[in-house]
Formats: sequence, C-alpha cells, structure tokens
Amino acid sequence: MSEKATWKTALTYIEPRVGEASFKTWFSTSELTSCSTETARISVQNVFAKTQLEGKFNTLIREGLAQAGQNPNNIRVEIQSSSVSKRAGISREIPPEKPASASISTSEDSAKKTLESIRGNSPSVAQPNNSLNPKYTFESFITGSCNDLAYTACRAVAENPGVKYNPLFIYGGVGLGKTHLLQAVGNHITKKDIHKKVMYISSETFVKEFLDHIRFKKAGFSDKYRSVDVLIIDDMQFIANKEKTQDEFFHTFNALHQLNKQIIIGSDKPPQSIPTLTDRLKSRFEWGMTVDIQMPDFETRCAILEIKASMSGATLERDTMEYLATNIKSNVRELEGALNQLLAFAEMRGVDPSVDIVEGLIGNVRTSRPQHITAKQIVDKTAKYFLLDTKDLRSPKRNKEIALARQIAMYLLRSELHMSFPKVAEELGRKDHTTAMHSIHKIEKNIKLDYAIREHVSDIKDKLYT
Ligand code: ADP
Ligand code: MG
Repeated sequence: MSEKATWKTALTYIEPRVGEASFKTWFSTSELTSCSTETARISVQNVFAKTQLEGKFNTLIREGLAQAGQNPNNIRVEIQSSSVSKRAGISREIPPEKPASASISTSEDSAKKTLESIRGNSPSVAQPNNSLNPKYTFESFITGSCNDLAYTACRAVAENPGVKYNPLFIYGGVGLGKTHLLQAVGNHITKKDIHKKVMYISSETFVKEFLDHIRFKKAGFSDKYRSVDVLIIDDMQFIANKEKTQDEFFHTFNALHQLNKQIIIGSDKPPQSIPTLTDRLKSRFEWGMTVDIQMPDFETRCAILEIKASMSGATLERDTMEYLATNIKSNVRELEGALNQLLAFAEMRGVDPSVDIVEGLIGNVRTSRPQHITAKQIVDKTAKYFLLDTKDLRSPKRNKEIALARQIAMYLLRSELHMSFPKVAEELGRKDHTTAMHSIHKIEKNIKLDYAIREHVSDIKDKLYT
C-alpha cells in the first residue's frame, strides 16, 4: 500500500473519533511522508498540529495506522519544510500564512453559534438529567504542559471510571478549563455507555438542594446522589463554611466510593488550601489523585484560538491570533470571549477578523511578541528569576538551587531557541553536551510531574515575552 493509501485508511479511522472541528484543524493537511516498521513520518503544517499529534492523538494515530496494517515503532511528526520560516527563534514555528481571503462562514448556523457563545448561553441540547454540555469534549480540549497531566488523568478516568484515581481532584484558577475537562469526562462516559448514570453538579447546587431537603423535608435527596455511577461535583470551594453540607457530602462520598463509583471534583484551590474544608473530607480527597491546571503558554493559547475559530467556521490570520494570544494572558475564558467578540464584530461588518479590528476591540496598543529572543536573555532572566547571578549558572557550582536554575535555563534554550545540545552546554559553560541532554530531559519529565517546575518555567517564559 502506498503512503497515501495508508494514510487515507488511517484518517478514515481517525476522523469519526476526533470530531469534525478537530479533524479539520489538526489532520486535514497532514501527510504520511514515509512508513517503515521502524518509523512512520507524518508531516503537518505547524507546531500546534505537531504538539497535538504527538501528544493526545498519538494512540489514535497508531490505531489508524494499524488499520492499514502498519505498526511502526516510532511516530515522528514533522513540520512541512516549506512552512518553516528561516527566521531564528520561536517565531519560526508559528503557522504559515493563511490565504488572504480568510473569512467567516456566513451560514446561519455558525452565526447563531457565535452569537450564542457571546451571550454566554451555549445551545441547550445538554441532556436534562445530567446537565452536561455536549460541546465540552476531550477532542475540543487543547493540551500543553499547563494541563497535560489533568487531561491524562481525566482521560484515564473516562476510560475506566471507578478503577483508577478515585476521587480525581482537579484544581486551578478561573477560566482555565476545569469545567470543560470535568464535563468531557461525563460526556465521554455517557457516549460510551448510555446506561451509566453520570451526574454533574456544582457544589452550590448540592448545598442548595441539601438546604431545601432540610427546610422543606424534601425527600429523595440522599438517594438521588447515591444512586449514580459517576458523580462530578464542580467548584468545590463553594462548600467551604457549610459544615452540615460537608457532612452530608462526606456520607455521599463514602457510599459511592465503597461501591467503586467514580467521584470527580473541581475546585479553584487544592483541598489543603480550602481552610474550612473539614479534615475528614481533606483526607478523603487524598485517597485519589489531585492535579492542577495552569494558564496555557503562548503556543497553547494560539492553538486554542485556532480550534475555537475553526469551530465557529472562521479562520484567523496569523498576526490576529498572535495579537490575541499575546495580549490576553489572564485565562482561556477571556481569550475565548475576545475571539467571539472579534468574530461577531467582523461578521456584522462583513469584513475579515483582522488585527486592526481586534486592536480596536480590546483597546490595547500593539505589543507583539518579540521576534528574537537571545540565549543571553534566557540565561539572564532565568538567573534573575531565581535571584542568582548569571555567573553562578555558568560556574561549576552544584548546589541545588543553582543546579535547578541551570537545568531550567538549558531547557528553555532548547525549547525556545531550538539550540543543539553542544550549543546549550557551551552557553552555560559546560564542555560535555550530555550534561545538557540529561538536564533538558529531566526538566521535560518533571514539568509533567511537578507543579513547582511548571510554574517556574511558565513564569520565566512570561518574563521573556513581555
Ligand atoms: P474553569 O471551569 O476552569 O473556570 P472552563 O472550563 O469554564 O474554566 O473554561 C472556560 C472556557 O475556556 C471554556 O469555554 C472552555 O471550553 C475554554 N477552555 C479552557 N481551557 C481550554 C483548552 N485547553 N482547550 C480548549 N478550550 C479551553
Ligand atoms: Mg468552572
């Protein structure tokens, strides 16, 4: 079978499993350039597609290739050479120019969708009995180092509810995608098995129903919550201060847990940091897995804009996307809000969603991401962030703090400037390139496991690009 035919078979398998918008965004221009028992090489147009294909779609790609009788040991995703700009630094991995005629689909349906999301009321096709919103799926969730672990944990739970990670506790700041992920779990489970009873509620609703139950002697409260297969309770922080409700939740928790029913909790803080959460609930939450979500970095923000625009039937010019991603760093909800505002405005005026419009709308001066950051800036900013001197990082000193700062600087030289290992080593006064290699791999691994490392890297990156 030719590469083309193999890939066609694989894509036929992949398409229905990822959904239309994701497929269009990530796979429509992908190609299989070669395939042997050792390696399959897939070429894509930009770094966002590369990240998604290497990360969350990896297994699916393997399954797709297997449909065509191919089981390569490695899958390499490469950016099509014609679309890699010759410029140095990050900017070379920004997607290629889009056709100038980028425009919004004028179909009534997409217009309605855009307007609905602006008003904040998504289509009310959610199933009434579990209040899940079908638009929140794993396929429409973009992953990056900021949320990879949370995504993976949710995926594992969605595949095997009640088996692993019970309870699963996801926490993070406002608008970072907790509700999206929590509901994606619910949607996935009900899609796989319509008999599974999934209940998604906010802890506020739980409090309210509990109070009604006490005040008005409303029956059925306990049974309602204890008869489900999966209980997803969002915004757990609202249950703080409500001791009686916490007691009730504690009993619900125990009843469900004993029956191996899955419990998933979302909150803006980790359990230990909710001061009025009773100790016994805190200790229950420690039984399972607690994962945080952080603000996406620049690349992930661009990828989110790309897929959200595509879901609304629009295509964004590269500079417009960069402008939004550079200027809106608070949270994804605001990023999405600005995008929706832009699309609606452009649609009303019948023009392309250009950077000039977005500038006018979000009322900001143009502060585009610097095109060139240098190795020196990376090392200096990393040292400064750790309150160290650049000299320390380049010195032979090995104390813990200096070693960590040095490893992070190495990681950033590689991830931001794509420097070779020997060059990275040289930049930090090391002779042996394997030191650089080990350090970079160590940070790459720990960034997934360690909340503090993730925060350091993301803070330093923010400082580099502002
Ligand atoms: P939270 O519950 O953490 O406050 P939400 O889950 O409500 O945040 O997310 C806010 C909006 O941002 C939602 O529309 C969601 O779809 C979107 N969003 C957040 N993170 C992502 C992501 N990684 N990929 C795609 N959309 C995201
Ligand atoms: Mg939420």
